[in-house]
Amino acid sequence: MRKRDKDIFTKGVNGCKHLGPRVAVVRGSDRKAITRKAVELLGGMDKFISKGDKVLIKPNMFTNTKEDIGFSTRPQVVEALVEMALEAGASKVYVGERGAMQRDIFEGTRVLEMAEMIRFDDADFDIVRIPGAKALKFGFRIPKILRECKVINVPVAKVHALTQVTLSLKNLMGYICACDTGYVHLSGLLNSIIDLSILKKPVLNVIDMTTGCEGNVPAFPTSPVKMNTVIASTDMVAVDAVAAYIMGFDPQEIRLIVLAHKRGLGEMDLKKIEIIGENPDALRRRFNTLWTESDWIDEYFEFIKDTACDACENAVRCGLTAIKALEGVDFIKEIVDRYGKPVIVIGPREKPIEGRKIVFYLGNCTARWMDEGFYHPGCPPLANQIRVFVSEVLKGILRGECI
Ligand code: SF4
Repeated sequence: MRKRDKDIFTKGVNGCKHLGPRVAVVRGSDRKAITRKAVELLGGMDKFISKGDKVLIKPNMFTNTKEDIGFSTRPQVVEALVEMALEAGASKVYVGERGAMQRDIFEGTRVLEMAEMIRFDDADFDIVRIPGAKALKFGFRIPKILRECKVINVPVAKVHALTQVTLSLKNLMGYICACDTGYVHLSGLLNSIIDLSILKKPVLNVIDMTTGCEGNVPAFPTSPVKMNTVIASTDMVAVDAVAAYIMGFDPQEIRLIVLAHKRGLGEMDLKKIEIIGENPDALRRRFNTLWTESDWIDEYFEFIKDTACDACENAVRCGLTAIKALEGVDFIKEIVDRYGKPVIVIGPREKPIEGRKIVFYLGNCTARWMDEGFYHPGCPPLANQIRVFVSEVLKGILRGECI
């Protein structure tokens, strides 16, 4: 680390005057206690929730698991926030998420007796348009409950092939029900996420980094990372910038953070953020990103990426890494021996590929060549869909069905 970077976090600590946003960083082994402390360092829950407010707590529980593997927000963190919202006078607290969220993850906590669970996919919807949207320019469905509630955003800290990290900004993808998320990938993922953040800005963001997740997220394999840390702020960009820094990234390299800052959602310059509590430098630990360690792919595939976005390449590399982890590479080797390396094309391209047996055109930018090979959409495409698509096509070819 450069010497001047070491001073970044010291200015706001110890009560110095600071004009920028404030981010609380708290470490400890008791999840409820550190969540409470983080909110108290920001002035207490009654600064964000008033008597009579309805509150929606939005954890990341799309991939629901009871195990402590860094995939979903821990129930104790949610429990602390539900308690604090009620203590601040909330008239009703909901805990809502799309997809797989199940009640049993909260067994052993008081969440089920204190709050109402909402699975967004089963909720009543409003059709909304976002003024000034850059990606979601059409009407789409969101749960009605969003209109009447203040939102407390509670992601878990993970790396992510499509967005590099998934923190408070990315967690708001969950505003859209699972059946409509394809729109987001068709419209441009990063600006869609920012559009959603503008639609309903949380009053508070609390990142659960008690157990984070590294590896080949959102596919396989992945590993938990014990950090025993909670990070909180009203500023989504600032809290993500500090969390990304603790995860070993430079916030400048996270496109979602940079774009959100440019669109006025918050501060990403660490020198302008007041950090209260722990010094992030003392917690910093690089989370690994397996899709970037995938040189093996070049043995079996030829990548043509020209001017493609990194997100497109990362999504494809993540999907292929998952094939290797789950199914091995013997069948791909057989393909290479019989037909030569399959070609993978991502990003805009003037001409189709000629003279090759197997060509995958992946991502919306290659849609014009969809009849020239095997095409799959997305902007960027979903890593798990790429995993299934590439694997099924190659196996189909070996069975003599696709070529
Ligand atoms: S290369 Fe094209 S399809 Fe892929 S993420 Fe970029 S804009 Fe979207």
